[in-house]
Amino acid sequence: EAKVLTLDGPGGAGKGTISRLVAERLGWHLLDSGALYRLTALAAKRHGVALDDETALGRLAAELDVVFLAEDESTRALLEGDDVSREIRTERVGDAASQVAGLKAVRQGLLQRQRDFRKPPGLVADGRDMGTVVFPDADLKIFLTATPEERARRRHLQLQEAGVDANLSSLLKEIQARDARDMQRSVAPLKPAEDAITLDTTRLSIPEVVERLTEWLAQ
Ligand code: C5P
Repeated sequence: EAKVLTLDGPGGAGKGTISRLVAERLGWHLLDSGALYRLTALAAKRHGVALDDETALGRLAAELDVVFLAEDESTRALLEGDDVSREIRTERVGDAASQVAGLKAVRQGLLQRQRDFRKPPGLVADGRDMGTVVFPDADLKIFLTATPEERARRRHLQLQEAGVDANLSSLLKEIQARDARDMQRSVAPLKPAEDAITLDTTRLSIPEVVERLTEWLAQ
């Protein structure tokens, strides 16, 4: 089977950027599993499905009509043919994503679709349960962390660059609430796999982390 590097961890630890850069460097495929949860949440809104209707959400997840288009700096997401790349990045959709992600039927509905991303020469899988549930036999499992303050600061910068006004202290509160929900849920709670390496990125630059991961993979 094709090789897999899993990158799990809380939001804002740098998983997205680092996964993309490592995949680019190695010429590997990329799975942004969070995008699938975000797309499921958005599809629910579009189809008028309530965020606690587990049966309907599970079916929606399994039948999701999505296409990912790789571009230079990012990946575009098409839902039912519409480009929703920006819409799925909003806090509102992120919040709804974390709600539907707590449902077993949704996680089950997305499972095979995620595994299908594993193709030669390899896959970088970014998420919360990549090493614990989706790819338990991954070649290298990394759990990326950073302090909540640092993650809020990074998110703030990202939003500023996107021209969005945001308040640092309310971002910190949102990050902490999202972490608590992801760690305390009963289905696939956020935690490092037993055989994962935890890497605290608070004081590391993105190129430093990318360098370290490609070195570890080559070993
Ligand atoms: O990583 P991202 O912020 O895009 O993920 C959105 C939400 O989807 C997370 O807050 C989390 O609740 C959920 N998620 C998950 N499992 C994954 C990826 C994301 O539960 N593998």
